[in-house]
Amino acid sequence: MRALVKSKAEPGLWMEDVPVPEIAREDVLVRVLRTGICGTDHHIYAWDRWADEHVAVGLVVGHEFVGRVDRCGEDVTEFQPGDLVSGEGHVVCGRCRNCKAGRRVECARSQSVGVSRPGAFADYIAMPASNLWHHPPSIDLDVAAIFDPFGNAVHVATAFRLLGEDVLITGAGPIGLMAALVARHAGARFVVASDVSDYRRDLAGRLGLTRVVDPATTTLWDVMAELQMTEGFDVGFEMSGNPNALRQMLASMRHGGKVALLGLPEEPFEIDWSQLVMNMTTVRGIYGRQIMETWYEMSVLVGSGLDISPVITHRFAADEFDEAFRVVGSARCGKVILDWSEA
Ligand code: NAD
Ligand code: ZN
Repeated sequence: MRALVKSKAEPGLWMEDVPVPEIAREDVLVRVLRTGICGTDHHIYAWDRWADEHVAVGLVVGHEFVGRVDRCGEDVTEFQPGDLVSGEGHVVCGRCRNCKAGRRVECARSQSVGVSRPGAFADYIAMPASNLWHHPPSIDLDVAAIFDPFGNAVHVATAFRLLGEDVLITGAGPIGLMAALVARHAGARFVVASDVSDYRRDLAGRLGLTRVVDPATTTLWDVMAELQMTEGFDVGFEMSGNPNALRQMLASMRHGGKVALLGLPEEPFEIDWSQLVMNMTTVRGIYGRQIMETWYEMSVLVGSGLDISPVITHRFAADEFDEAFRVVGSARCGKVILDWSEA
């Protein structure tokens, strides 16, 4: 089969002919149809310091996918050949305290598809059946391919109550934009997104948010004044990993405001802890998706009319991966999809 392999410890990925994966009794073999490119995949493509430290040469990369069940291991009962599925990219240990308590999202020893175990940028992927999610046959394949990052957005957007609340989102990348759409769908009053990139602000501007802000020219206080908000934002989603974005967010929350952090900063940095204490701000780190509750919520949201497809801006055949990764690296894009359906 075709697979995108990190075959050398240098920038790039290589399309190689590799064996179709073997499946264990509890596994399912999936014929991959579409995949989404994540920032993590781009780190591995570019071979930065993080990738060099975390990824073994020879790995098949990628974790955002949709495909059809090809074959099931003997112990699998809930999937049949032909079923349309995506996969939860964190494969948990099943044995740690959190796993045993049913809090699989908090597993201390989870493996990551396409980072620490073979990935989805291939014609086939083997996954444990317990990590797969059924899609209805009517779902748009590109939307189904990005359930993994959509799940990050839904996990953030379900961390705190949003009905009638004023929501600030720093970072209008694909995940911030999807979270903004969920916040609107969930009945937030104002949904304000900020981004330093003109491309990302333009994309956000087409999603019907209350305001899209350039932090270089407009302060959040200006926006609040314009919207006649007097006490600050109720809920914040930090989706950039940028220190200034988090500092500005913490300074713009109402007393008792709630902040969900998804963005991953590259380095440790300082924040004003006394401000956080005196404003009684709740800050919660969000990692991955609730397994599998977030998947249930995503299916319900899409089924009840939430359309995340405007976040998808580019589509390429799998063999055009170099151009697709160039577009992702430019950051002048939303989600970028690779099509694996033509072998
Ligand atoms: P992305 O890099 O495409 O988007 C981040 C956006 O933040 C960019 O558009 C960038 O222009 C913007 N930004 C940078 N500085 C800013 C500032 N000062 N103010 C406002 N915006 C600013 O990333 P993404 O794929 O949308 O993911 C969002 C973040 O979440 C990333 O940091 C990513 O590493 C992280 N992430 C975390 C998890 C998790 O499980 N916690 C999972 C996936 C991604
Ligand atoms: Zn575990």
